[in-house]
Amino acid sequence: MTTFSVRFLGCKVSHVDAHEVRERLLADGHEERDRADVAVVNTCCVTNEAVAKSRKEAARAARTHRRVYVTGCGANLAADAFAGLPENVVVVARRSEETPEFVAGDVGAIGCVQADARLDRVRAFVKVQDGCSFGCSFCVIPLVRGASRSRRADAVLAEIRRRIDQGHREVVLTGINLGCYRDRESGYDLPRLVREAGAIPGLARLRLSSIEINHVDDALVAALRETPAVSRHLHVPLQSGDDDVLRAMRRRYTVATFLRRLEPLRDEFNLTSDVIVGFPTEDERAFASTLETVRAAGLTKVHVFPYSPRPGTGTADADPVPPQAKKERSARLREASHEACLARWRTKIGCDDRVLVDRPGRGYGDDYCPWLVGADAAVGELVSVSGAAVSDEGVLAA
Ligand code: SF4
Repeated sequence: MTTFSVRFLGCKVSHVDAHEVRERLLADGHEERDRADVAVVNTCCVTNEAVAKSRKEAARAARTHRRVYVTGCGANLAADAFAGLPENVVVVARRSEETPEFVAGDVGAIGCVQADARLDRVRAFVKVQDGCSFGCSFCVIPLVRGASRSRRADAVLAEIRRRIDQGHREVVLTGINLGCYRDRESGYDLPRLVREAGAIPGLARLRLSSIEINHVDDALVAALRETPAVSRHLHVPLQSGDDDVLRAMRRRYTVATFLRRLEPLRDEFNLTSDVIVGFPTEDERAFASTLETVRAAGLTKVHVFPYSPRPGTGTADADPVPPQAKKERSARLREASHEACLARWRTKIGCDDRVLVDRPGRGYGDDYCPWLVGADAAVGELVSVSGAAVSDEGVLAA
């Protein structure tokens, strides 16, 4: 038996990948501990900063563990981001599907033990799709994760049932480019998967991790609306609110399309997004268009990513926007996003909601707005609340 610990950096897909390795090691009879022989660090490479953090985490783990497996997007980056680390660091440059098998094989199985796969007490991320075939000019993900591919629908639905049996209340369907989900053999696309996943008894909430605007069509909107378990929240990356920048990014939509497709959802759904600030062709005018688009689309929480060139991408050699301008634009956008969040939260005052408590005293409402609830609400419980006020952290329940 070997003791191990697993950590991840980056997005929800990285979270899922890390836990697939964890489950596999548990299933082989190894034990998870804070002070362990083996560490698995599932890394991220979406920005320079993410790679630097991943490297730091691997170096730190190498000092306190006998062996460290560096997995995930960072490990697959063409440029050797983990060169020069101590000899006990093993860089696993493999597809996500092969990584648990490889790590488990290297660690060595000691038997077959049924793992307790509860990863989070309340919320389970279920990966349904991986990779991306879109090829945005700034993005390294297709290079490190490969082309889009989907899991079989029966495997996805079985995993959701298993998660519910384990006690999870919420399931987040997760993918790199989720709208590309197709199980052609069984005739499933994402709207059908949403409807069937949402109908599984015992599931309190179903959410999508992120969806490209190209996939927000009538069929998906109808599936989201007509499935009661679906949370009234949608995360749709904007990246830029300027058509020239979108074209240079090789995104597949215009600002007008983005606004038109979200229009039917904007009052009912809490819409959140990602924006890249300081893309090579973004000037002040383009950035002003982004601010205006965020407002016009009714976006609330915007995750702001200051642009950094990634190796092997279309814009690998371009980074003309000065760091100070990126910093200043990022701050303006974060401020606008915070104001938009506060405005949405204020609409909850005097209104009822149901909060899924995911930490002591905190949880998320039906549209994934954060709530602060009484300390007596049990984690995992769905509590009825009424909004009394807002703070910088969310809606305060009466
Ligand atoms: S859609 Fe674009 S940004 Fe998203 S993973 Fe694919 S290439 Fe990257």
